[in-house]
Amino acid sequence: MANVSDDLMMHKDNDPNAFGMFECFFCAASTQMFAVRMVDQDWGSPGVVWLRCMSCRRGFVLNDLYGLAPSTTPLDVPQGLDADTESTWNEVRSCLSARAFTASVMMCRKLLMHMAVEEGLPAKNEKDFAPTFVQCIDHLQAEGVITKRNRKWVDRIKDIGNEANHDLASIDKDQATTVATFTRQLLHEVYELPFLEANT
Ligand SMILES: [Zn+2]
Repeated sequence: MANVSDDLMMHKDNDPNAFGMFECFFCAASTQMFAVRMVDQDWGSPGVVWLRCMSCRRGFVLNDLYGLAPSTTPLDVPQGLDADTESTWNEVRSCLSARAFTASVMMCRKLLMHMAVEEGLPAKNEKDFAPTFVQCIDHLQAEGVITKRNRKWVDRIKDIGNEANHDLASIDKDQATTVATFTRQLLHEVYELPFLEANT
Protein backbone atom coordinates (compact mmCIF):
# COMPACT_ATOMS: atom_id res chain seq x y z
CA MET A 1 0.00 0.00 0.00
CA ALA A 2 1.56 3.20 -1.17
CA ASN A 3 -0.49 5.54 1.01
CA VAL A 4 -2.02 4.88 4.39
CA SER A 5 -5.46 5.83 3.04
CA ASP A 6 -5.34 3.69 -0.11
CA ASP A 7 -7.56 0.94 1.29
CA LEU A 8 -10.13 3.36 2.74
CA MET A 9 -13.23 4.60 1.00
CA MET A 10 -15.85 7.26 1.59
CA HIS A 11 -19.46 6.26 1.01
CA LYS A 12 -21.98 8.50 -0.69
CA ASP A 13 -25.00 9.53 1.42
CA ASN A 14 -27.37 7.54 -0.78
CA ASP A 15 -25.38 4.31 -0.69
CA PRO A 16 -27.47 1.69 1.18
CA ASN A 17 -24.27 -0.16 2.12
CA ALA A 18 -23.19 2.84 4.12
CA PHE A 19 -25.82 2.29 6.83
CA GLY A 20 -26.17 -0.25 9.64
CA MET A 21 -28.25 -0.54 12.83
CA PHE A 22 -26.32 -0.31 16.11
CA GLU A 23 -26.84 0.62 19.76
CA CYS A 24 -25.47 4.09 20.36
CA PHE A 25 -23.41 4.38 23.54
CA PHE A 26 -24.22 8.09 23.82
CA CYS A 27 -27.88 8.41 22.94
CA ALA A 28 -28.64 4.81 24.02
CA ALA A 29 -30.96 4.10 21.17
CA SER A 30 -30.89 1.47 18.52
CA THR A 31 -30.06 3.79 15.74
CA GLN A 32 -28.83 4.02 12.22
CA MET A 33 -25.15 4.65 11.81
CA PHE A 34 -23.41 5.90 8.75
CA ALA A 35 -20.06 4.42 7.80
CA VAL A 36 -17.87 7.48 7.40
CA ARG A 37 -14.97 5.61 5.93
CA MET A 38 -14.52 1.95 5.53
CA VAL A 39 -12.11 -0.54 4.17
CA ASP A 40 -13.44 -1.87 0.88
CA GLN A 41 -15.31 -4.83 2.39
CA ASP A 42 -18.71 -6.27 3.25
CA TRP A 43 -20.35 -5.85 6.64
CA GLY A 44 -19.03 -8.41 9.07
CA SER A 45 -15.86 -9.25 7.17
CA PRO A 46 -12.54 -8.63 8.91
CA GLY A 47 -11.41 -5.04 8.87
CA VAL A 48 -12.25 -1.69 10.37
CA VAL A 49 -15.32 0.50 9.90
CA TRP A 50 -15.66 4.00 11.28
CA LEU A 51 -19.25 4.94 12.00
CA ARG A 52 -21.32 7.96 12.81
CA CYS A 53 -24.57 7.85 14.81
CA MET A 54 -27.32 9.45 12.74
CA SER A 55 -29.06 10.70 15.91
CA CYS A 56 -26.30 12.30 18.00
CA ARG A 57 -23.58 12.45 15.31
CA ARG A 58 -20.91 10.93 17.55
CA GLY A 59 -18.31 8.54 16.25
CA PHE A 60 -17.62 4.83 16.69
CA VAL A 61 -15.24 2.25 15.38
CA LEU A 62 -16.02 -1.36 14.55
CA ASN A 63 -12.93 -3.56 14.73
CA ASP A 64 -13.95 -6.87 13.12
CA LEU A 65 -14.74 -9.38 15.86
CA TYR A 66 -14.27 -7.00 18.78
CA GLY A 67 -17.61 -5.30 18.25
CA LEU A 68 -18.48 -1.66 18.37
CA ALA A 69 -16.45 0.73 20.54
CA PRO A 70 -17.54 2.44 22.67
CA SER A 71 -20.20 -0.17 23.18
CA THR A 72 -23.32 -0.41 25.26
CA THR A 73 -22.44 -3.63 27.05
CA PRO A 74 -25.66 -4.65 28.75
CA LEU A 75 -26.05 -5.96 32.30
CA ASP A 76 -23.31 -5.91 34.94
CA VAL A 77 -20.77 -8.37 36.33
CA PRO A 78 -21.80 -10.05 39.59
CA GLN A 79 -19.26 -10.26 42.41
CA GLY A 80 -17.65 -13.54 43.41
CA LEU A 81 -17.29 -15.14 39.98
CA ASP A 82 -14.28 -17.32 39.28
CA ALA A 83 -12.15 -16.23 36.31
CA ASP A 84 -13.67 -18.78 33.92
CA THR A 85 -17.23 -17.89 34.76
CA GLU A 86 -16.49 -14.19 34.60
CA SER A 87 -14.96 -14.42 31.14
CA THR A 88 -17.89 -16.55 29.92
CA TRP A 89 -20.37 -14.05 31.34
CA ASN A 90 -18.50 -11.15 29.73
CA GLU A 91 -18.68 -13.04 26.47
CA VAL A 92 -22.48 -13.17 26.84
CA ARG A 93 -22.50 -9.39 27.35
CA SER A 94 -20.19 -8.80 24.38
CA CYS A 95 -22.37 -11.03 22.21
CA LEU A 96 -25.43 -8.98 23.16
CA SER A 97 -23.74 -5.69 22.40
CA ALA A 98 -22.44 -7.05 19.08
CA ARG A 99 -25.99 -8.26 18.26
CA ALA A 100 -24.74 -11.86 18.22
CA PHE A 101 -27.95 -13.03 19.89
CA THR A 102 -27.78 -16.71 19.04
CA ALA A 103 -24.22 -16.92 20.35
CA SER A 104 -25.25 -15.17 23.57
CA VAL A 105 -27.96 -17.76 24.27
CA MET A 106 -25.52 -20.58 23.65
CA MET A 107 -23.09 -19.01 26.13
CA CYS A 108 -25.90 -18.69 28.70
CA ARG A 109 -26.64 -22.40 28.35
CA LYS A 110 -22.96 -23.06 28.94
CA LEU A 111 -23.09 -20.94 32.11
CA LEU A 112 -26.11 -22.83 33.39
CA MET A 113 -24.21 -26.08 32.96
CA HIS A 114 -21.23 -24.52 34.73
CA MET A 115 -23.47 -23.54 37.64
CA ALA A 116 -24.91 -27.05 37.92
CA VAL A 117 -21.39 -28.43 38.37
CA GLU A 118 -20.63 -25.65 40.85
CA GLU A 119 -23.72 -26.82 42.77
CA GLY A 120 -22.42 -30.36 43.04
CA LEU A 121 -23.40 -32.12 39.82
CA PRO A 122 -20.49 -34.37 38.70
CA ALA A 123 -18.80 -32.91 35.60
CA LYS A 124 -18.83 -36.40 34.05
CA ASN A 125 -21.52 -39.05 34.45
CA GLU A 126 -20.96 -42.80 34.88
CA LYS A 127 -20.45 -43.13 31.11
CA ASP A 128 -17.81 -40.40 31.21
CA PHE A 129 -20.10 -37.96 29.38
CA ALA A 130 -20.72 -34.39 30.41
CA PRO A 131 -24.23 -34.00 31.84
CA THR A 132 -26.91 -32.92 29.38
CA PHE A 133 -28.52 -29.53 29.58
CA VAL A 134 -31.72 -31.07 30.98
CA GLN A 135 -29.75 -32.92 33.70
CA CYS A 136 -28.10 -29.63 34.64
CA ILE A 137 -31.46 -27.88 34.88
CA ASP A 138 -32.94 -30.73 36.94
CA HIS A 139 -29.96 -30.55 39.29
CA LEU A 140 -30.23 -26.79 39.73
CA GLN A 141 -33.90 -27.25 40.49
CA ALA A 142 -33.21 -30.07 42.97
CA GLU A 143 -30.71 -27.78 44.74
CA GLY A 144 -33.27 -25.00 44.91
CA VAL A 145 -31.31 -22.58 42.70
CA ILE A 146 -34.08 -22.74 40.14
CA THR A 147 -37.42 -22.53 41.88
CA LYS A 148 -40.79 -23.67 40.67
CA ARG A 149 -41.58 -20.04 40.04
CA ASN A 150 -38.78 -19.53 37.50
CA ARG A 151 -38.96 -22.95 35.90
CA LYS A 152 -40.97 -21.30 33.12
CA TRP A 153 -37.94 -19.16 32.26
CA VAL A 154 -35.77 -22.22 32.12
CA ASP A 155 -38.08 -24.01 29.74
CA ARG A 156 -37.92 -20.93 27.58
CA ILE A 157 -34.10 -21.07 27.60
CA LYS A 158 -34.30 -24.72 26.69
CA ASP A 159 -36.58 -23.92 23.76
CA ILE A 160 -34.57 -20.91 22.63
CA GLY A 161 -31.36 -22.90 22.96
CA ASN A 162 -32.80 -25.64 20.81
CA GLU A 163 -33.86 -23.11 18.25
CA ALA A 164 -30.35 -21.72 18.33
CA ASN A 165 -28.92 -25.15 17.69
CA HIS A 166 -31.21 -26.15 14.90
CA ASP A 167 -32.39 -22.95 13.31
CA LEU A 168 -29.71 -20.31 13.14
CA ALA A 169 -31.85 -17.32 12.27
CA SER A 170 -34.37 -17.52 15.07
CA ILE A 171 -33.00 -15.64 18.11
CA ASP A 172 -34.01 -12.00 18.39
CA LYS A 173 -32.80 -9.33 20.77
CA ASP A 174 -35.71 -9.68 23.21
CA GLN A 175 -35.26 -13.42 23.55
CA ALA A 176 -31.51 -13.12 24.03
CA THR A 177 -31.92 -10.32 26.59
CA THR A 178 -34.52 -12.33 28.52
CA VAL A 179 -32.21 -15.32 28.71
CA ALA A 180 -29.22 -13.19 29.76
CA THR A 181 -31.23 -11.36 32.45
CA PHE A 182 -32.37 -14.66 33.90
CA THR A 183 -28.83 -16.05 33.76
CA ARG A 184 -27.61 -12.94 35.60
CA GLN A 185 -30.13 -13.70 38.34
CA LEU A 186 -28.87 -17.28 38.68
CA LEU A 187 -25.24 -16.05 38.83
CA HIS A 188 -26.37 -13.90 41.73
CA GLU A 189 -27.81 -16.94 43.54
CA VAL A 190 -24.89 -19.29 42.88
CA TYR A 191 -21.88 -16.97 43.19
CA GLU A 192 -22.71 -13.50 44.38
CA LEU A 193 -24.82 -14.26 47.43
CA PRO A 194 -22.31 -16.72 48.97
CA PHE A 195 -19.52 -14.23 48.20
CA LEU A 196 -21.39 -11.40 49.90
CA GLU A 197 -22.22 -13.58 52.90
CA ALA A 198 -18.56 -14.54 53.28
CA ASN A 199 -17.36 -10.95 52.94
CA THR A 200 -19.73 -9.00 55.18
ZN1 LIG B 1 -26.16 8.50 19.13
